[in-house]
Amino acid sequence: MEIFNDKKQMNREYIMGTAENYLQKYFGYNTFRSPQEEIINNVLQGKDTVVLMPTGGGKSMCYQLPALMMEGLTLVISPLISLMKDQVDALKSNGIEAEYLNSSLSDIEERMINQKITSNQLKILYISPEKLLRSSIFGQLKYYNIKLIAIDEAHCTSQWGHDFRPEYAQLKRIRETYPEIPIIALTATADRAVRSDIAELLGMWDEQVFISSFDRPNLSLAVVPATNRYNQILKMIGKHADQSGIIYCSSRKQTEKLTEKLVSEGYDAACYHAGLDPLERSRVQAAFIEGKLKIIVATIAFGMGIDKPDVRFVMHYNLPKNLEGYYQEIGRAGRDGLPSETILFYGYGDVATQMHFINQIENEEYRKIQEDKLKRIQEYAESQICRRKVLLAYFSEQTAADCGNCDVCLNPPKYENGTIPAQMALSAITRTNEQTGMTTTIDILKGTFTPSIKENGYDTLKTFGAGRQITASNWAMYIQQFIQQGIIEIDYKDHSKLKLNEASRMVLSGQKEVKLVSYETTVERRNAGKVPKVQKAISALTPDENLFVLLRKVRKSIADKEGKLHYHVFGDATLKQMAAIVPLTKEELLRVTGVGEYKAQKYGDFFLDVISDFVKGNPELKNQSAQTFHATPEPEKKAMKPLVGKEQKNQILDLFRQKYTIEQIAAEFARSKETILKYLLEFYRNNPESLDVYQLVTHEQVELVKAAKNALDQTDRLKPYYDYFNGQLDYDVIRVSLAVLQMNQ
Ligand code: ADP
Ligand code: ZN
Repeated sequence: MEIFNDKKQMNREYIMGTAENYLQKYFGYNTFRSPQEEIINNVLQGKDTVVLMPTGGGKSMCYQLPALMMEGLTLVISPLISLMKDQVDALKSNGIEAEYLNSSLSDIEERMINQKITSNQLKILYISPEKLLRSSIFGQLKYYNIKLIAIDEAHCTSQWGHDFRPEYAQLKRIRETYPEIPIIALTATADRAVRSDIAELLGMWDEQVFISSFDRPNLSLAVVPATNRYNQILKMIGKHADQSGIIYCSSRKQTEKLTEKLVSEGYDAACYHAGLDPLERSRVQAAFIEGKLKIIVATIAFGMGIDKPDVRFVMHYNLPKNLEGYYQEIGRAGRDGLPSETILFYGYGDVATQMHFINQIENEEYRKIQEDKLKRIQEYAESQICRRKVLLAYFSEQTAADCGNCDVCLNPPKYENGTIPAQMALSAITRTNEQTGMTTTIDILKGTFTPSIKENGYDTLKTFGAGRQITASNWAMYIQQFIQQGIIEIDYKDHSKLKLNEASRMVLSGQKEVKLVSYETTVERRNAGKVPKVQKAISALTPDENLFVLLRKVRKSIADKEGKLHYHVFGDATLKQMAAIVPLTKEELLRVTGVGEYKAQKYGDFFLDVISDFVKGNPELKNQSAQTFHATPEPEKKAMKPLVGKEQKNQILDLFRQKYTIEQIAAEFARSKETILKYLLEFYRNNPESLDVYQLVTHEQVELVKAAKNALDQTDRLKPYYDYFNGQLDYDVIRVSLAVLQMNQ
């Protein structure tokens, strides 16, 4: 058994060694990202695979690389026509034979592609589900020499999700008709209900599921009060001059208003919402993707199918409905892994609006779910602990450490005694008989004469002007905190008026103290003065900014000349690295991440010329280049990483013995649950005495499986058991129980 394992391991190392060569040659990347390697290995073994990875995580590589390594064709099913073209262009830019088939092609184009397929010229073919299922192609697949089918955006199969597509629900036919072709399904959905549906809806069985962490450490997170939004937007735009950003608003009208203001002040912005004429919409979207339009002000209608890697900021002018939507939207920033910023403006006005819509939902169960989701995003917005922790916890991911890249981590809350301001606010509310909302209450506290104040005689109240020394925006922030702490209630059913409760009365009578996060904290957060850890780490290699600008110009002229997207020439991350390590020869250029052989050949000279010219005027950079490439010996090629290294194996065992769950261990090592379980079972088979397998299953479950095993003719296949128990025992339990039974035979 040992020997067999070793051999398998060696075989795998050989495969992965070759895979790394392909990665370098075609894509110019040196190493796989954490789960890519395991996924590719699984795919190359012809097994079904489900990949759950966040946006920008590198899903495409998981099928593109095997496609290159296998003889034959890989079919990629993708729901988004716009994205298909983009992906195929990107592949072609790397010298890879790829095409797409969808309704946008003419008959002649389609015939030409068919010819390429039948003459085995293609490695990768993208296809829309409609095209696949509704044309004669489906029946002909057997003549196509297809070795792998990738289903992108696989969450579209699930009715639970927002992106459900009826054609996707029919993709099960692939498995039924072509059971021998392995399938890899990929999605970035963080929605748990949807995730659990995918494999079943595609008719897979015995698939391996790979779940990566959904953390996006390069995205900074910040939530600030929804006051002075416009100024903060200008600040953000100023900080990212000449770079792309998205501002999400909750209504069409708001997007138009904001765009108008920005444009009238000379900013390069346009709005996007579902009410626009489709032509205008695609014009705006294309301009944004090509980098010709910098800022897009949009409703949530914008984003699906946007694969732009260099969006540098995403702002939310209004509070989104739920954390799923919010995370998806901010996820559109920084797909290239470079630091990017996100800001959410938070105010009670938005909560009231959302509540208003929720209250109109008739189905009680659905309404409750929406209410709960809103509450959870409020909790996120009001959090005084690391926001990333709150966010990841919502998606069932636990993290031990604070992120260092959210506003709370960068400016931890400083507390002060807030009893007196609380009493002032509560007394103002009492004296109006709980008839005022946030704005009027603040007007009373500040002593501001407005028509409504006079009309209601509030200027005669004893509290009128009692809180003059505190600014209006600080009052807003304080009252928000009082609401969060439950000493003021907000009645969404009665025009969001502020109301008192038992806790309010205790504060008023001096029986209860109130703590407040000082407003300095918020001001500091708003100014976001500190540099987060990741940003420091990423900029450890400092690019020469002037050189970077020149390289971008070269890129632009190539892209314009070839009529392709600038990032299909090279991405920002690649140009930044060039500007930092200053390569002077083609060999040196090839060591820049993102420069593969094809592109080095095709574009290398253009960039090298500019770099060597630049170095002539800046001779100190030559030293930098020499240091990078010559003084330091070439680092030895990374030793091939075994599936789970020896040291890691020991740590895994330790954690397991300390009663950590498989999920926790998997998260700790950024490995899939399956890998951890596989390793533990392997260890158990070799050392049954040293591992308490009953941490994973109960005796009763093993007994159940034993009975089933007799009924199922002693089979070792998992699926029959799964069916036998009608899905009530999950695959892991069955796997472990079978291992126990084998050992006890
Ligand atoms: P997803 O589909 O998961 O959103 P992509 O497949 O578009 O992500 O990949 C995101 C970016 O990461 C792309 O620019 C891709 O080229 C890059 N990438 C993928 N794998 C690697 C790797 N192993 N090393 C460096 N960059 C990678
Ligand atoms: Zn944090």
